[in-house]
Amino acid sequence: MYNANSMKAEEFIADEEITATLAYADANKGNLPLIDRIIAKAKLRKGLTHREASVLLACDNQEKIQELYALAEQIKQDYYGNRIVLFAPLYLSNYCVNGCVYCPYHAKNKHIARKKLTHEEIRAEVTALQDMGHKRLAIEAGEDPVNNPIEYILESIRTIYSIKHKNGAIRRVNVNIAATTVENYRKLKEAEIGTYILFQETYNKKSYEKLHPTGPKHDYAYHTEAMDRAMEGGIDDVGLGVLFGLEMYRYEFAGLLMHAEHLEAVHGVGPHTISVPRIRHADDIDPDAFDNGIDDDTFAKLCALIRIAVPYTGMIISTRESQKCREKVLPLGISQISGGSRTSVGGYVNPEPEEDSSAQFDVSDQRSLDEVINWLMKLGYIPSFCTACYREGRTGDRFMALCKNMQILNCCHPNALMTLKEYLEDYAGEDTKRLGLELIERELARIPKEKVRQIAAEHLADISSGKRDFRF
Ligand code: SF4
Ligand code: SF4
Repeated sequence: MYNANSMKAEEFIADEEITATLAYADANKGNLPLIDRIIAKAKLRKGLTHREASVLLACDNQEKIQELYALAEQIKQDYYGNRIVLFAPLYLSNYCVNGCVYCPYHAKNKHIARKKLTHEEIRAEVTALQDMGHKRLAIEAGEDPVNNPIEYILESIRTIYSIKHKNGAIRRVNVNIAATTVENYRKLKEAEIGTYILFQETYNKKSYEKLHPTGPKHDYAYHTEAMDRAMEGGIDDVGLGVLFGLEMYRYEFAGLLMHAEHLEAVHGVGPHTISVPRIRHADDIDPDAFDNGIDDDTFAKLCALIRIAVPYTGMIISTRESQKCREKVLPLGISQISGGSRTSVGGYVNPEPEEDSSAQFDVSDQRSLDEVINWLMKLGYIPSFCTACYREGRTGDRFMALCKNMQILNCCHPNALMTLKEYLEDYAGEDTKRLGLELIERELARIPKEKVRQIAAEHLADISSGKRDFRF
């Protein structure tokens, strides 16, 4: 019944295939000749199948695990270099008709304050985000056809793109809203969104139905097939993710890779990004009530193996994770992180007291964006506010072709330097500015092509004299 080319959720994420994969992984977790063959294939940097990657995930040989970590770091360097792209979530509305048991916005939670931003409030939030230095947002809203219809989302996107405050601008709006129709995806595409993000939460159908007892999200197939409808609607950059902690992580890992294989098989384009959230505490939600939590070491192994299995896919980690954990997984394959985030509706203008929080989850990494930028540079990364690809039409298979040939780095690297320079000029604290200018000088010299280096140097000088928004 398993068929990666099928358009039916139960066939491209077939439960029997995942069960068989896990049994195969268990049977071979100590099979070192096979593990070596899989690692040799992984070293070609073209990815692995869900079965191969699941064997590596089951393997507990420390020497092999260290080899995998080193390989994940190498692949990350080869594909993405040392840039880390920054973004912030923007919560538009926490009205929701669904019953997701792990989320405080579930419809039965009567003591959380419900809020939906007006367009004036969106302006204020976006101005606050621009004043921090953000250029890329991920908008979030609960599913509620009355309070948050698609027209509200589209109007919000228009508002966000229209705000130009001082030198600020939001240049890319990614959208994380509930599974919807092809027609609505088409409208989102026309509104010039970047990536459409939808977390699967869990690939296990039985668990999925239990965790989503009420509301339209209860329909496993409709949710799981959403990315196919998004692609049909013309959105060719889609972002996958599971909420680790809900189900057995090995099951989720295999399901996630099968979903990526399905998108690639049917649409010729795998996922643009994969997010790796873990369940966190929030109002009405106790993460200990979910008994599939994973420790930091397992989490790191998962990140490394996602990097190895789908090298061409960006990986996102949010402020759900602590500074310490983010530091541990950054080198293993993360390409995008959030910084200075607020996870409540209206939280950038009116931060809520922790004891009375209506946030979707508690933020572990509470540092300001400037602190995050400073920290990234001290770790040897280039913080980037780049949004160039979709603005240059490098989406879907155009993007993937460049990425798979490891050419995208030729754009990412100079774009990171130019957007960092904008940040330093407009928003950085003194120490961050000093560190950043030194970093730009060092990194500029590392641009391999002379012509690109020369153009980047000219643009960096232009930015010093007040011009903005250059890109490769
Ligand atoms: S996870 Fe999303 S759909 Fe579910 S209750 Fe929360 S906001 Fe609603
Ligand atoms: S050049 Fe494209 S892939 Fe690279 S950071 Fe910019 S938007 Fe992302």
